[in-house]
Amino acid sequence: MADPAMHVKLLDSRILFLGAPGSGKGTQCKHLKAELGLPHLSTGDILRQGIAEGKPACLQAKSYIDSGNLVPDDLITVIFKERLVLPDCSRGFILDGFPRTLPQAESLGAMLKELRLPLKCVFYLVVDDQLIIERTTGRLGCINPKCGAVYHIKNAPPQVDGICDICGGELKQRDDDNADIVAERLKVYKEQTAPLIKYYKEQGMLQEINGARSQEEVYADIINGLRSCVATGGR
Ligand code: AMP
Repeated sequence: MADPAMHVKLLDSRILFLGAPGSGKGTQCKHLKAELGLPHLSTGDILRQGIAEGKPACLQAKSYIDSGNLVPDDLITVIFKERLVLPDCSRGFILDGFPRTLPQAESLGAMLKELRLPLKCVFYLVVDDQLIIERTTGRLGCINPKCGAVYHIKNAPPQVDGICDICGGELKQRDDDNADIVAERLKVYKEQTAPLIKYYKEQGMLQEINGARSQEEVYADIINGLRSCVATGGR
């Protein structure tokens, strides 16, 4: 980033990403995390890692994830809060996948008020259903939890089939990225998560970004949006 003073200000950013599954939230969060060094709190990743490690709360969530439904608000809020209160979140963070319902948004507001860490900006990545289905059903991820690189069968294939270019780990499709479960996740998104767009718009925090473009173009808009957010002191 060219301007060092602005870079320092961006380090305190508290950012939330909204968008359907496959809208590119995870990818953009990884870029932001690499550039700003902020923790990336993805509830999907937290749940999948917790399941792999046999954590009881995450194992309770497994049947919901497998069917494409949302984990109950009480359970996911406890799991999320455990992560949010860790010291690395005390300056800034990037939220991806929480909140996903209005009650979760209310809980988040209360938690951030208590921690005196109000959100600064909310980005909504806009992508149509057809592209969502194409992206999610072709997605492959590295199973090495330390890597987690994401590929796409057609748009971003690995150099060697089934093998991660970065760490040599095995690549797999997520169980919930098959076409039937994606359709269910999209339905759940529209019913339960999309109302958050209006919720944050009414709070004057929402910036809409066209997510149906290259990663670089989307990222450039996010950085510009973040700069204007920081320059105006968030809300
Ligand atoms: P993601 O990786 O963000 O697509 O999340 C995968 C799955 O984890 C979702 O389909 C839900 O079953 C569950 N999940 C993740 N975040 C939440 C949340 N905030 N509330 C409820 N369920 C969630």
